[in-house]
Amino acid sequence: MKVPFFDWAAYFNERADEFARILTETAGAGRFILQKDVDEFEAALARFIGVKHVIAVADGTNAILLGLRASGLRPGDEVILPSHSFIAAAQSVHHAGGTVIPVELDESDWLVSPEAIEAAITPKTRAIMPVHVNGRTCQMDAIMDIAARHGLEVFEDSAQAAGARLDNKPAGAIGRWGTYSFYPSKTLGCFGDGGALVTNDDEIAERVRAMRNHGANRDKVIPRDVTIWGTNSRLDNVQAAILVYKLTYYAEAIERRREIARQYDEAFAELDGLRLPPPPEDGRYFDVFQNYELCCDRRDELRAHLSEQGVGTIVQWGGFGIHQLRGLGFNQDLPITDRFFKESLLLPMNHVLSDEQVAHVIQSVRSFCA
Ligand SMILES: *Cc1c(COP(=O)(O)O)cnc(C)c1O
Repeated sequence: MKVPFFDWAAYFNERADEFARILTETAGAGRFILQKDVDEFEAALARFIGVKHVIAVADGTNAILLGLRASGLRPGDEVILPSHSFIAAAQSVHHAGGTVIPVELDESDWLVSPEAIEAAITPKTRAIMPVHVNGRTCQMDAIMDIAARHGLEVFEDSAQAAGARLDNKPAGAIGRWGTYSFYPSKTLGCFGDGGALVTNDDEIAERVRAMRNHGANRDKVIPRDVTIWGTNSRLDNVQAAILVYKLTYYAEAIERRREIARQYDEAFAELDGLRLPPPPEDGRYFDVFQNYELCCDRRDELRAHLSEQGVGTIVQWGGFGIHQLRGLGFNQDLPITDRFFKESLLLPMNHVLSDEQVAHVIQSVRSFCA
C-alpha cells in the first residue's frame, strides 16, 4: 500500500464534478476579479471563524506583508517570531522594513516560547508574531500579557490554523490581526495561491482592503482618488468561488483530521522512543491538525523505514529554522530549535486519507518501534 505524504490530485478528485461545475459557472459568467464570489467568501469565512473583517488577498505571505505595512512598521522596528516557522513571515517583516528576531520553542507545546519572547525584547521591539504551527494555537494568554506589559503589538501568522481555537478564541483574531493561507495543501486549500488577513480592527481592515487593490477603496482603481500606497494582491475570483464551496464542508474536513490525530495518538501512546504532539488540555485547545508532527530520537531511521513501507513523510521546512539561515545574516544560537529539527517528522495528515491508509501508517510506525 502507498500513502503519499500529500496526494495533490485527490484534493480535486474528491469532488471533481462539483469543482468543475463551479469553475465553468464562474468563469463562464465572466467573473474573474473581485466579483461577488470574493465578497461571499469573505462573509462566509468571517462567520465561520468569528471575526469582524476578512480581506481576501493573493496569498498568505502577502497577507502578512500588507498587515505589517498597514500597521506602520518602521525601518529598524524589531519583530520577534519563532525560528521554527516558515520563511514567509520573516520575509514579510524584512520587506516591510523591519528586523526579524527569531527565538526558541517551548518544549511543552513545540510552539514559540513566551519566556524566550520576553527575553528578546529590546527598546526597538515593536511587535510579537506568534506562528500557530501545525494548526495548534500558541500560548496566547501569556503572549498577550507580555505584549500589554511592554506596549507591543501582536500579529498572528495563522497560515496553518484557520479554525483553530484557544479557550474558544479564534487563532488569527486574538492579536491586532492574523493571516491565513489557502495554498492547496493547507487545511482550507484552493487550487492555486490564496490568502486572507483577518481582524476586528476597522482601521487595519480599511487600509488592507485598499492596499490589496492599488490603494483603491473599491473595485475600480482610479489613481486620482488614491491616498494610500498599495499593490496588487487580490484573491482570484475563481479561487474565491471554490473556497465558498470548500467552506461548506470545512468543519467536516477538520473533524476528519482530528479523528486521524486521535487514532495516531492512541496507537503511538504506548510505543517507546516517540514524543507526540501536545494534548488538548481539558478541551482548552481546539487544534485543526494542519500537520501531525512527532519527535523520535532515531528520526532518520524511522523516516527510511516508513519510506520502505510506502509511507511518505516530510521534515518541516527542509529541517531548517530561520536562525539557521546564515546566508541571510542570522547568527543566533537556539539549541532547543536545533534539536527539534533533528528529531521531528510529519506523518501523512489530511482529510482525503482513507481508513486503510491511516491503519497502514500506524502499522508501519508500530513495526519500527517493535
Ligand atoms: C504556508 C505558510 C505561509 C505562507 O502562505 P502562502 O499562502 O504560501 O504565501 C506562511 N506561514 C506559514 C507558517 C505557512 O505554513
